[in-house]
Amino acid sequence: PTANIGVVGLAVMGSNLARNLASREGNTVAVFNRSYEKTETLVTEHPEAGFVPASTYEEFAAALQKPRTAIIMVKAGGPTDAVIDELMRVFEPGDIIIDGGNSLFTDTIRREKAVREAGFNFVGMGVSGGEEGALLGPSLMPGGPDEAWVTLGPILRSIAAVAEGEPCVTHVGHDGAGHFVKMVHNGIEYADMQLIAEAYDLIRRGTGKTPAEIADVFAEWNRGELESYLIEITAEVLRQNDAATGRPLVDVIVDEAGAKGTGAWTVQTALDLGVPVSGIAEATFARSLSSHREQRDVSGALPGPSDDAFTVPDADAFIEQVRLALYASKIVAYSQGFDEIRAGAAQYGWTIDLGAISRIWRGGCIIRAQFLNRIADAYAAEPELPVLLSAPYFVEALGRAQAAWRDIVQIAAGAGIPAPAFSSSLAYYDGLRAERLPAALIQGQRDFFGAHTYRRTDKPGTFHTLWSGDRTEIEAEDTH
Ligand code: NDP
Repeated sequence: PTANIGVVGLAVMGSNLARNLASREGNTVAVFNRSYEKTETLVTEHPEAGFVPASTYEEFAAALQKPRTAIIMVKAGGPTDAVIDELMRVFEPGDIIIDGGNSLFTDTIRREKAVREAGFNFVGMGVSGGEEGALLGPSLMPGGPDEAWVTLGPILRSIAAVAEGEPCVTHVGHDGAGHFVKMVHNGIEYADMQLIAEAYDLIRRGTGKTPAEIADVFAEWNRGELESYLIEITAEVLRQNDAATGRPLVDVIVDEAGAKGTGAWTVQTALDLGVPVSGIAEATFARSLSSHREQRDVSGALPGPSDDAFTVPDADAFIEQVRLALYASKIVAYSQGFDEIRAGAAQYGWTIDLGAISRIWRGGCIIRAQFLNRIADAYAAEPELPVLLSAPYFVEALGRAQAAWRDIVQIAAGAGIPAPAFSSSLAYYDGLRAERLPAALIQGQRDFFGAHTYRRTDKPGTFHTLWSGDRTEIEAEDTH
C-alpha cells in the first residue's frame, strides 16, 4: 500500500479535497468513486497529484496504509450509509472512516455508535468553504473519538485554511459535535445573508441608489468592523451586470431563495433545545416566504403605506444607520448561534470550546469575518459567558448601534419594507434587557386553563389559583 489517506466520492467537493490533500508534503491519496469515470477524469486531469486510483472498494482498501484513513464526500443520507457499509466490509478494526458530507448530527451520533461497535473509528466532520475552500483550505469541524484525532489532526491541520497563523481546524468534540457545529455555522450563515439582504433593500428603496452604487457602499463597509467574506461577495454580486440585458444581474435573478435544509435543521434543533435562535429562524422563514410565489400578492391587493411614505432626507446618514443596525443584528445572530452550540453541548455531553470554534471560523468558511476575532476575545476573557452579546466589547458596540437600530426598524415598518431579521433581533435584544417580561401573564393564563401553576416573586414554592372556585390561592405540587 502506498497511500496514507483516501477519498471516496469524487464530485466537486471530494475531488477538490483530494487535490488539496495531494498537494501537501508527504501525502499520497487513494481515490475512489462509485462510477469509475469520475475517478478516471480526476486522475487524468491532475497527473501532478500522483493519485492512486481504485476501481473497487477492495482495491481502495489495498491501496491504503494501516490504520487506513478515508474521507467520504458523498451525498448526505442513504448514500453515506451505503459507503460506510462498503468501507466496513473491506477495512479492518482500528481503521478510521471520516464522513465529510453535510450529515445531520443525529445521523452522525447513530453512525459513530454502530461503526465503533464494529471496531472502527468514525469521525463526522463538518467541511465549510464550498468547492474553493475544499481545494485551497476549508474550515474543518471534526468530531469523533480522541484516538482518531491523534492520527487525523496533523493531516487536517495541513489542508485547512489558515487564519492569523492558526489552521482552521480543531477537534470539536465527540461523535456528532462536529456536524452539530457545522449545522449551526450554516444557520448563522443564513442569518448573516438575510441581514445583508435587508440592508441592501432598505438602502435601495430609501436612497434610490443603483446596485452598482450600493456595491460601493458594501465595499466601503468591508474596510470596517463588518469586514467579511459575505459583505465582500455582496459587493461583487451587486456590481455584476447581466450580459444579455445590460441590467444589474440582481434585477434579473428571480427573487425566490433556495435552501438545502441546514438552516431548517438549525432551527428545528434549536426548538428542541429551547434556544431562541430567532434571527436564524426569521432568515430561514424569509427564504420560505420568498419561494411561495403563489401566495405573494402579485396583484397588489394587500394594503400598505403609500409609496411616498419612504423618503430619506440624508442618504449618507441613513446608510450609516443601516450599517449600525446590520452590525447590531449580526451580533445577535452570532450570539444566538453560539447559544445553540452551548445548549447542544450540554444536551449531548460534548465539551466544546466556544472560543476555538470562533477561531476556526475565521478562515476558509462562508462566515469568515474580522468579527470572529472579537468573539474569540470574548470567550478568552470569560469562557463561561452565559450569552455572548453580554461581553463588554459587544455591549459597547450594541450601545453605539442601538439608537440607529431602533430608527431603522421603525423606518422599515413605517415604509412597509420587510426587515424580519433586523426587527426580530432587536426584539430579542429588548427581551434580554427587559426587567419584567409579560411571561408572568402567560403563566397566569396557563394556570387558569390548565392548572399549570406558577412561582411567586416574593416567596419560594409553587402555587395555583382556584380559578373556577373561589379564586383563593393554594400551594401546589410542582408540575411545570
Ligand atoms: P454531491 O452531494 O452532489 O454527491 C455526489 C457524489 O455522491 C458522487 O461522488 C456520487 O457518486 C456519490 N454518491 C451518490 N450516491 C451514492 C451511493 N449510493 N453510493 C456511493 N456514492 C454515491 O457532491 P458534492 O461534492 O457537492 O458534496 C459532497 C458532500 O459534501 C455532500 O454531503 C455535501 O452536502 C457536502 N458539502 C458540499 C458543499 C458544497 O459547497 N457543495 C460544502 C460543504 C459540504 P457517483 O459519481 O457514482 O454518482
